[in-house]
Amino acid sequence: MIQDADFITKSNVPGPTKEEIRCLVVCKSQVNSNDIVVDLGSGTGGLTLEFAKRASKVYSVDKNVEAINLTSQNLEKFGLASKVTLLTGNATSVLDNLPPFNLLFIGGSGGELSVLIRKGYNKLKIDGRIIITAILLETATEAIQTLKNLGMDVDVVNVSISKAKILERGTMMKAKNPITIISGLKKN
Ligand code: SAH
Repeated sequence: MIQDADFITKSNVPGPTKEEIRCLVVCKSQVNSNDIVVDLGSGTGGLTLEFAKRASKVYSVDKNVEAINLTSQNLEKFGLASKVTLLTGNATSVLDNLPPFNLLFIGGSGGELSVLIRKGYNKLKIDGRIIITAILLETATEAIQTLKNLGMDVDVVNVSISKAKILERGTMMKAKNPITIISGLKKN
């Protein structure tokens, strides 16, 4: 896993997704070297880079051109640019022009989550997965309901990570916000 501190960051672009959460997303995705991956909401490139290290091809989309530029800088920094096509635009319209894929990761949806999931499902290969990370409870329930309605096998994990701050007088654990990771598997 790439360390959080090794990403180039910008104050007006969210991310990277914290290392421990990236670990869980990569684990749940079961991504492999033959996979075509789509990352909707590239942000800083946290997940785009992890998928680029493991998959055969990644399409990374963000509506914010500054996020796309930052993801591009991080890809260059880690020598992963050749595997990734960066696309600026709204995820709902960009999805229409992508080839079929094995994994769809949604890290930002701008209030269009169920539409994105449904569109993504139509392009998803059999045995492919859709993974959503949600900070809001409403986002999590919308994701779960939509995946269930599509007849997918659904897996939900909610994690609360605490990280140590090493102080002179001891080790203080600092809590991060809980995150829900929702995965759907497309059956035939
Ligand atoms: N996973 C990223 C962080 C994602 S933050 C990382 O680890 O670095 C969410 C991103 O989703 C933001 O950059 C935002 O611009 C983008 N976004 C939100 N809704 C979108 C939409 N409908 N289409 C494209 N990008 C979107």
